[in-house]
Amino acid sequence: MLRPRTHDHARGTAAREHRHGEVSLTIKYARTAARLAAGTALTTAIAIGGATAAHADYYDGGMPSRSWNVKAVGINDTWVGFLDTGRKNWNNAGAGANIGRTSSAKAEFTAGRYSQSWYGIYSPSGFRHINRVFKIKVNARTLERDSGTHMTEWCRSTATHELGHGLSLDDNPNTSKASLMKHSRNRTTVQKPQPYDVSEVKGIYS
Ligand SMILES: [Zn+2]
Repeated sequence: MLRPRTHDHARGTAAREHRHGEVSLTIKYARTAARLAAGTALTTAIAIGGATAAHADYYDGGMPSRSWNVKAVGINDTWVGFLDTGRKNWNNAGAGANIGRTSSAKAEFTAGRYSQSWYGIYSPSGFRHINRVFKIKVNARTLERDSGTHMTEWCRSTATHELGHGLSLDDNPNTSKASLMKHSRNRTTVQKPQPYDVSEVKGIYS
């Protein structure tokens, strides 16, 4: 089974412990190959023979296209608002994303006060090109605990980050550029996809 991305995690090192399984090994190998090839994308592509080789940040748990719907489950208007902000952040980013919210969607977004340490978790199921769906949970408890006076900003950042997994972006991309997908980002100021994130989504789905 695909492992979830337990991310937006308070501790980057702990989150990395969840990188297991087939998908993550592929990514790890791609990164190793990239290092050996001194950054030569062509060599990396040959080494692993995959269409995604040029995108070390590719996460196989994402959706098969950039156009999909999500259903809000058991949350009030405030949390639906965070979901909607996340959708709009992506839809307006120039990444070609078209994320809708419908009551009939199979993919789900919810929130609660969970005992785990993460801020958000993205759990895919099914097969990417057949019946892929996901469930996103956002943790009001940890976000409230750690966000100080910026709860709203942090919730928006986390909601948008989790939707980024639906667009096949992995956590903690290996880049010095700013990224919504980095656990180390400032969640108060980095709420939206950054140019690097937009470029990666366009590359993955082109
Ligand atoms: Zn994540």
